[in-house]
Amino acid sequence: MAQLDKVAKIKNFSAELMSSLRKPNHDIRIYIPVKMDDGSMEIFEGYRVQYNNALGPYKGGIRYHPKTEINEVKALAFWMTLKCAVAGIPMGGGKGGIAVEPKDLSQGELERLSRGWVKALADVLGPHKDVPAPDVNTTPEIMAWMADEYGKITGDNTGATFTGKPIEKGGSEGRKPATGLGGFYVFDTLRTELGLPEKCRVAVQGFGNVGGNAARIFAENGHTVIAISDSKNAIFKKEGLDLQKVESHKKNTGSLKDFAGAENITNEELLELPCDLLVPAAFENVINDRNADKVKARAILELANGPVTPEADEILFKKNIPVVPDILANSGGVTVSYFEWDQNLKGKHWTEKEVFKKLKKIMEEASQKTSAKAREYKTSLRMGAFILALERIQEKLP
Ligand code: NAD
Repeated sequence: MAQLDKVAKIKNFSAELMSSLRKPNHDIRIYIPVKMDDGSMEIFEGYRVQYNNALGPYKGGIRYHPKTEINEVKALAFWMTLKCAVAGIPMGGGKGGIAVEPKDLSQGELERLSRGWVKALADVLGPHKDVPAPDVNTTPEIMAWMADEYGKITGDNTGATFTGKPIEKGGSEGRKPATGLGGFYVFDTLRTELGLPEKCRVAVQGFGNVGGNAARIFAENGHTVIAISDSKNAIFKKEGLDLQKVESHKKNTGSLKDFAGAENITNEELLELPCDLLVPAAFENVINDRNADKVKARAILELANGPVTPEADEILFKKNIPVVPDILANSGGVTVSYFEWDQNLKGKHWTEKEVFKKLKKIMEEASQKTSAKAREYKTSLRMGAFILALERIQEKLP
């Protein structure tokens, strides 16, 4: 909301738009009874927030986490509204969750819980109403159970109500690397404008789906990945890391530590390395008022959600370190989710090559339009992305 206020100071949007974005259209809380393996019954609290559907059906993941609660889900649903609008895809913003530690459940309990979430919400979901996806701790297998349950209840057999399904159950090619690849396309479009050289020295925080794929894609495109980290360790090699070897080292030893020829550093040190591009791809708030001043990268590409705090954003702006915002940089994931929905509705299955070609086009356009807005309003790329998103939503208001 503070960011909305900030945008309102840069561009005068209508009062209708601003008030419609301050509250979700619906926030739904459900209680899901689950028969446990020992015969007892447990009740789990679940949520679906349908934030805004001006641009299309609500879209957003379902998170399974003990700390998940309605306010977090609301904030994430608002985020999804902006992300879909920046990408220019015909989807609105939503998010869901269940307050649960999935590791404490058996496979059977997890399946009954997931099907229970769908039973409770089936009336408000649907390919043209609300299209959930995976998020923290929810897998393609869980999406397949959910899609199956939705089909059983409603008779809808398009599979288009849930995305992130396994490929053999209607999932899209290319979903796994989509966020990292989309981020690379954004970087590639904005590189000269960011003042970066043709071949960049890149430091990546995170070695999961997003960080691992991004690092590989940057290296495959001739850039030098000089540092990478996971939750426990970080490694640095001035001449560049051989990522395939790093991956097998991690597989064999269970850790990034002591990779031959590289220096062990801390995650904090990784964020402060002199490099061309810093790619935080692990989790939120890692660049904050305590370390923003020490960042020596020439630019930052936010592949995680919210890795730079608003205070750090101000510091970096003053230091002339451009930040490519998450709602643009990591929107490749939701874009390929939208492709999955589109393919399911049309009964098509695109090749990986087709998916990447379409993704590239969308990411390039979103990057160019964001950067044009930032220039027009003499503001940061983040504010440029907000302005673009809000203009697109405003256009659709009655
Ligand atoms: P993931 O679980 O696959 O990977 C997370 C990585 O972060 C792992 O390498 C983990 O070791 C590392 N990590 C955890 N704690 C850390 C710490 N304290 N310091 C450094 N590294 C740490 O998750 P992911 O799917 O790659 O998501 C990463 C980020 O990207 C999250 O913020 C997520 O919300 C965001 N995101 C993901 C997608 C997607 O398509 N997966 C889309 C948009 C945004």
